[in-house]
Amino acid sequence: MSKCSYDPRIVEGHALGMYHCPECGEMVVAGIDHPDYSAPMEIQEDYLEVCDPGDPSVGIQSATWKITGGFIFENEVDREEFREAIQQAFGLQAENPQVAFESEIQAENDMWDQAAPDDEYPVG
Ligand SMILES: [Zn+2]
Repeated sequence: MSKCSYDPRIVEGHALGMYHCPECGEMVVAGIDHPDYSAPMEIQEDYLEVCDPGDPSVGIQSATWKITGGFIFENEVDREEFREAIQQAFGLQAENPQVAFESEIQAENDMWDQAAPDDEYPVG
């Protein structure tokens, strides 16, 4: 499957075999399937956070660890495997470690921003 929706097969009989796709600009051949030049979707995360809610009722403080340096995953399955491995590793340190990646933390912050616009807070 190609990401570009333009279908070179519809111009069968075109004078020239090869031409630039009018939609994405890649080289296509009239009468032949549009090639897929799109790279596989990588997932990039700048950092991740491991958060343990702790249990304040028995005196266990919550804790958060931030791991920076950047991560690249070939796909979501790889990212989930990594999340599980990190969770397992931190299970040696924490009761119930939760792993959140940058994109998830950003999304949560955005939701929070929308739920509580700045103008609801008194300024000054
Ligand atoms: Zn195209």
